[in-house]
Amino acid sequence: MRPFAFYAPSSLPEALTLLQQQGQGGRLLAGGTDLLVQMKERDLAPRYVVSLRNLPELRTISFDPSGGLTVGARVSMRAIELDPDIRAHYAALAEAAGVVGSIQVRNLATLGGNICNAAPSADTAPALIALAATAVIAGTDATRELPVEELFQGPGRTALQAGEILVAIKCAAPWPRSGSAYLRHTPRAELDIAVVGASAALRLDGETIADARIALGAVAPVPLRMPSVEAALKGQPATAATLAAAAEVAAGEVRPISDQRGSEKFRRTLSAVLTRRVLERALAAAQAGEA
Ligand SMILES: Cc1cc2nc3c(=O)[nH]c(=O)nc-3n(C[C@H](O)[C@H](O)[C@H](O)COP(=O)(O)OP(=O)(O)OC[C@H]3O[C@@H](n4cnc5c(N)ncnc54)[C@H](O)[C@@H]3O)c2cc1C
Repeated sequence: MRPFAFYAPSSLPEALTLLQQQGQGGRLLAGGTDLLVQMKERDLAPRYVVSLRNLPELRTISFDPSGGLTVGARVSMRAIELDPDIRAHYAALAEAAGVVGSIQVRNLATLGGNICNAAPSADTAPALIALAATAVIAGTDATRELPVEELFQGPGRTALQAGEILVAIKCAAPWPRSGSAYLRHTPRAELDIAVVGASAALRLDGETIADARIALGAVAPVPLRMPSVEAALKGQPATAATLAAAAEVAAGEVRPISDQRGSEKFRRTLSAVLTRRVLERALAAAQAGEA
């Protein structure tokens, strides 16, 4: 690892000013489970590193039944996985956080790091897209908000501008009779990354699917929302046949590559299978929800 300057600011304004003063060539450090590996193994050599460890505003989870959920960018996967409000109302996010790495990794790995590292296989990305989450991004002059699905621009590339910091992820208040879920396939049970990850969020009106958001990971250069699958669900009766037919649409909408983890054909087949299973779980959760 090559030498670098290290800074540990104690507030968000201080961190933003530091980034502005130092300019190009820096990296933010959250849990370090991606960054430090890349610095050690892939010859990533930042000129300076800014730790987010001492920024309390990035460490909080807040939930209000009418206002929704805000999760700070430096909240760990383990904290998300165990949070009772997230488990109850945003199950897809709790389930996605809960499959990342091992418990040791999840104690360090943060939500912001998972998103900003922008791996196509990042587990929380499809869940956040299905949940229609918004990214809160701070710059020196202003704070802006962006739908999470617009954040991803390619492997390792996000819409964050130089000098910006992802502060938090927001999700709207949960609807009655709604449910969400995340599932992934990995060749190994633990410490493996998704060959395909799938997330669904459904809202019911009576026995009709009133709204649906579906997103898949590891099937394209960016986590992919599935508008055709959503269209095949909206306004349809909430039956197993509807879910199965919509899931088949996923196989045609993904843009997977073949690599050592799975062929393009395997990923397409898996996309349909996981989409059906995740839809079934989301539907069961919505049906169990309050009317
Ligand atoms: C053994 C192992 C297993 C893993 N398993 C999985 C897995 O199953 N699923 C999965 O999705 N990932 C997995 N990962 C990858 C990694 O753990 C996650 O992506 C993790 O969430 C990254 O978070 P972090 O806090 O460690 O990020 P860091 O490594 O600190 O940062 C990652 C990148 O994001 C940037 N960044 C971090 N925070 C911010 C912010 N607030 N604003 C702007 N930029 C920011 C950093 O500059 C860096 O470029 C694994 C990693 C390891 C080492």
